[in-house]
Amino acid sequence: MSALEIVRIPVLSDNYVWLVHDPDSKATMVVDPAVADPVLEAARARGWAITHIWNTHWHPDHTGGNAAIKEAAEAWGGCTITGPAAEFARIPTLDVQVRGGDRVTLGAHVAEVWDVPAHTAGHIAYHFADGEAIFVGDTMFAMGCGRLFEGTAEQMFANMQRLATLDDATRVYCAHEYTLSNARFAVTVDPDNRALADRLAAVETARAAGEPTVPTTIGAERATNPFLRAPTAAELGRIRALKDAA
Ligand code: ZN
Ligand code: FE
Repeated sequence: MSALEIVRIPVLSDNYVWLVHDPDSKATMVVDPAVADPVLEAARARGWAITHIWNTHWHPDHTGGNAAIKEAAEAWGGCTITGPAAEFARIPTLDVQVRGGDRVTLGAHVAEVWDVPAHTAGHIAYHFADGEAIFVGDTMFAMGCGRLFEGTAEQMFANMQRLATLDDATRVYCAHEYTLSNARFAVTVDPDNRALADRLAAVETARAAGEPTVPTTIGAERATNPFLRAPTAAELGRIRALKDAA
């Protein structure tokens, strides 16, 4: 089984759409298409036919490209849109509804669906255990976590604790380039963390050069992410509120 090829497509002001291709089956999947055109261009440039869209949650900057990509995909045999059952009413383009514990496939690659409510009530993530990759939408960011729009600090704490069970090498594909802002905030709540200070410096250099800082890894987050490192839900909630006010 060949490794998945994963392409980062920057769109809007700070979104990343992920284009995922299985060289064996030729299946090609898009995670959270905010928009359609740059995604279609990226696929066409590689000679890939988009066969699947996987959504993590209903927000328009994660689903806005669904309909136009599906329409364009009719020309090469159609594509199937999979997303959270709990948000079906708010993602009318869904073909397949999934929930935590379900398995979805891209060719022979199997991803487990995780329920990760908090940013939205039905938010899900897709974990490829074989490929050591997880698509987390707006649940975890580099040195950050998603805002608690439809859930609680307790739920986000549980999400972070579950992510912390993954191998350090697992790559975390989040949906936004929020890293610099997150790092600058993180050093204010964890000022004695040397790994964090070093990472802030590296991120400042990368961003000044216009380079992306995503995907991240569970190992890097374990060392530097104050939300993953929070010892209790109350502490996560406290720093989430501070970040919201920053
Ligand atoms: Zn969102
Ligand atoms: Fe988003």
